[in-house]
Amino acid sequence: MKKILVSGCLYGWNVRYDGRDIPCLDKRFLKWKEEGRLIPFCPEVFGGLETPRPDSQRVDGKILTRTGLDVTEEFLKGAVEMARLAKENEIAFAIMKENSPSCGSNFIYDGSFTDIKIPGEGLAAEILRKEGFIVFSENQIDEAEKMLEEME
Ligand code: SF4
Repeated sequence: MKKILVSGCLYGWNVRYDGRDIPCLDKRFLKWKEEGRLIPFCPEVFGGLETPRPDSQRVDGKILTRTGLDVTEEFLKGAVEMARLAKENEIAFAIMKENSPSCGSNFIYDGSFTDIKIPGEGLAAEILRKEGFIVFSENQIDEAEKMLEEME
């Protein structure tokens, strides 16, 4: 059975910066969860950041908190581990939380902390793609389902 790497907060873990989850309730995602196909992971928590934690955004090649603290190293540690897990489990693809500075795969916040989103990737999604993995967001379950059907 092909595995799918997923953001921990989509899986139902309370690991977001605000201490909450944001579970994906799509029935296909829930079916994959029940099958044991999903591998949940939170790169920011793995990187050593606390929950809850200050929100962060990508700014000029770094990742900074709202107050300007540089957390790039912690984000990078988690992103590298996520790519290692992807390889170890020979995943079909990943499904990751859109807009996150780690997990966003199509959009992220623009670094101004003013709620403006721009096309872009979080650090973990970027590294996964550089390693050759396909990353979908929770808004692309149709595409993910189609790809899984083609693989199996
Ligand atoms: S880093 Fe990814 S998995 Fe962790 S809370 Fe943020 S979006 Fe969810």
